[in-house]
Amino acid sequence: MVIRRRCSFAKTDGEACAMAPLHDRPYCFSHDPERAADAAEARRLGGLRRRKEGTIAVAYDLPGLDSVTGIRRLLDVVVTDGIGLDNGIPRLRVLISTAVAATNLLKVGEFEDRVAALEAAIAHGQSDEDAAFGAEENR
Ligand SMILES: [Zn+2]
Repeated sequence: MVIRRRCSFAKTDGEACAMAPLHDRPYCFSHDPERAADAAEARRLGGLRRRKEGTIAVAYDLPGLDSVTGIRRLLDVVVTDGIGLDNGIPRLRVLISTAVAATNLLKVGEFEDRVAALEAAIAHGQSDEDAAFGAEENR
């Protein structure tokens, strides 16, 4: 059995902190009084980072990479910036990489459409079979 050490900090609601403590310290990074300044700086940088990500997402109209639309939008930005670079090997690599990524995106989209069509055909076939069996049972 593994005995896991836990941070000794008690939250205001009395619940214990679930984080592992620092080596040779009773507290985790966030709750160690000796690391309070470092923890505050880390939180400040994390906040700046999230704000910067939000600002860039709005400025570039990036919906995120969890949808085809979002990935396509990112590739549009990359192509626009890549076209604007001085001509040379880095520019050509950016454009080729973007073309490869866009091709893969098209393939995935095509496969999704074909799978959806197949699933619809199977579901349609099953309902035809059910109807046929239902008709036999009624005889
Ligand atoms: Zn803690």
